[in-house]
Order: sequence, then C-alpha cells, then structure tokens
Amino acid sequence: MASASGKKAATKAKAKSLPQLCRVGRAQTGLGLFAAQDIPERKLIIEYTGPRIPTRLAQEIDRRRANKYLFEIDSRWTIDGSTRTNLARYVNHSCDPNAEAESNRGRLMYRAIKPIEAGEEITLDYGEEHMELYFGKAGCLCPGCADMVKTRKPKKSKTSKKRKR
Ligand SMILES: [Zn+2]
Repeated sequence: MASASGKKAATKAKAKSLPQLCRVGRAQTGLGLFAAQDIPERKLIIEYTGPRIPTRLAQEIDRRRANKYLFEIDSRWTIDGSTRTNLARYVNHSCDPNAEAESNRGRLMYRAIKPIEAGEEITLDYGEEHMELYFGKAGCLCPGCADMVKTRKPKKSKTSKKRKR
C-alpha cells in the first residue's frame, strides 16, 4: 500500500472512488456528512479510507482515547480514518441511523439502510462502546437521544460497530 501522506493529485485520481453522493456540511454538533442527492436504500455511499494499522495497536490507542477515527475491520486490521481526505469520518453517530458500515475484502464501505433524501444527514450507529469512550455514557446528542436521555434503554447489538470489543 502506498503512503497516504502525499497530497499529489495523481494519488487522488488513482484511488478508486464512488461518485460523489455526499458533501461535508454543518451539523447540529459540528460537521457532518450530508446526501448531495437522493440515495436509494442499499446503495453504497462512501468508503471509509485511511491507512490500515494492526487492530492490536488500535486497541492501545483507543485505551488512551487518542484517536476517535479508528474503525476496526476485523481482529487483525483497523483503518485509521483520521486523514482529512476521508470524508466518511464526518459521518455522525445516530441511534436511529440511515447507514451502516460493512467490510469487504479489507475495505470498509458505508451503505444506505433506508432511502436518504438529498440534504439529509448521513448517520451511522457507532455502537455503545465507542460512544462511552469518546462522549461519556450519556453523551449521545443524536435527535432521538437529545429528548430522552433519562429513559435510555440498553441497545441491541448490531452487525457493524466502531471498536467491537
Ligand atoms: Zn442517540
């Protein structure tokens, strides 16, 4: 794999990318990623890109809460998505998300799990552990939780999560 440090246009052009379905914009809690056009259910939205690091190392970094953009593919590899070119890192958490992450041959893709309208924010459920680690136990600010912080129920586990363990 080539180093991601270069900023050459050639690197960008070479990288396989999906058509631009989304754009970064201002969300309720900072920046977020928004649909630039209507996105049908099941459509691949964007790839979560960045250098791969060993998951073992990622777990140590997580313990220090040093990088909230680590996304585990499996027990061996984790993507460090903290690079600015990784637009998927702007996707915010929601407990009622409209996208999910799936890994395919070492790549991590975000896929729509419901129809998303142009202008709508794209959200993903990052899982309880990630939220507790980086936002505190009651730290979820997604629209669903903002009103009902006190009555939160334990969530069922889902297929793909940030930091599984
Ligand atoms: Zn929430």
